[in-house]
Amino acid sequence: MNRTREEESTHLKNNSVNRTAQAPSGKGESATMLATEKIVVSPSGESVKPVRRQFPGPRNADVALRVAFERRANADLVAHARESLELEVCGVLVGEICQDDEGPFVHVQAAIRGTAASEASTHVTFTQATWTSIHQTLERDYPKLRIVGWYHTHPGFGVEFSDMDLFIQQNFFGGPGQIAFVTDPLSGAVAICLNTASGVRYLPRFWVDGREQPCRVPAAKTLEAAGAVPGGAAAEAGSSELEQLEARVSQLVQAMDEQLSWQHNFMLFCGFFFCLGVIVAVGYFIIKTYNSRLEPPQVRQMIPVAIQVGDKTVMLGVGVVEWKVPDELNAVMLQEELLRKAAEEREAKEIAKKLQKEGKSLTNATPGATNPPNPTSAATTNK
Ligand SMILES: [Zn+2]
Repeated sequence: MNRTREEESTHLKNNSVNRTAQAPSGKGESATMLATEKIVVSPSGESVKPVRRQFPGPRNADVALRVAFERRANADLVAHARESLELEVCGVLVGEICQDDEGPFVHVQAAIRGTAASEASTHVTFTQATWTSIHQTLERDYPKLRIVGWYHTHPGFGVEFSDMDLFIQQNFFGGPGQIAFVTDPLSGAVAICLNTASGVRYLPRFWVDGREQPCRVPAAKTLEAAGAVPGGAAAEAGSSELEQLEARVSQLVQAMDEQLSWQHNFMLFCGFFFCLGVIVAVGYFIIKTYNSRLEPPQVRQMIPVAIQVGDKTVMLGVGVVEWKVPDELNAVMLQEELLRKAAEEREAKEIAKKLQKEGKSLTNATPGATNPPNPTSAATTNK
């Protein structure tokens, strides 16, 4: 909360005065907006005349004030609440104060968004611009309806009304049957309160399109109105601080839960990839081992070959084998083959060189050998 209570109070009161000046005469709204002294549930004694209408819900509803939302109004409100999960949003509820045999009830027929609300603040404030916008919409779209309450959101911190909420309720929506509606868009919880002669009171349920909807009611059902106004009882301030502390703690617990779940997910992810790595490595090893296994040659066919040994003819079987040679072995064999070929070539060259040399020496020796008489040959011939 950026403002102090006193600043807010002055601000809101100024708005109220300005609004009174702007409000069209004959509607009785300005009177209800400023009715901070007399707080009653029943519209009797006020300038507002309840509309005679049957309550669109069950009979004998056991609540201080029956609140009936039209489906469209509730849907608009929920949609607006869900638009911001970080900042609070607010608006007003418009409809009629009605009456049937069982007494008065509030019939909410539309929700007007507080579009120009101060969004920088962590807490809703009905600024001058907000009020202007709300009243323009009200006069343009719902000229026959009146403001029957207000709503705002508590994203992620429960639906208990804060001191400031109660202050706004008492000073700006203190009219007969004007309700305060708060919802937590994260949990969907709802709380409704209204001013009674004995203070602000929570409602245990309300009705949407005739169907009952539950409301959250804190342990202390009735909050003393005096506690909510500036300079109220110290106990009330203490309980409010406790509420804020509780909200803060629940927020921290939620953040911690989120972090833990994130860590858990991260570890799961890492574990998954580790296992996948191990499986792939093992699989690769197995496949490699299988492929490189040296299988013995398999005899496919025997071909008989006749061989002459001495004066006998012997039949010899020559086997045709199939031999799957692993790639590695094949490569090694190819390498060996190449090396062998290279060695053969070298050998052939050397032999060729030797022969060349011998040939040369032979040609050199030939003329000498022919000219002188060979004693051995001569001896041979003489024999
Ligand atoms: Zn609030």
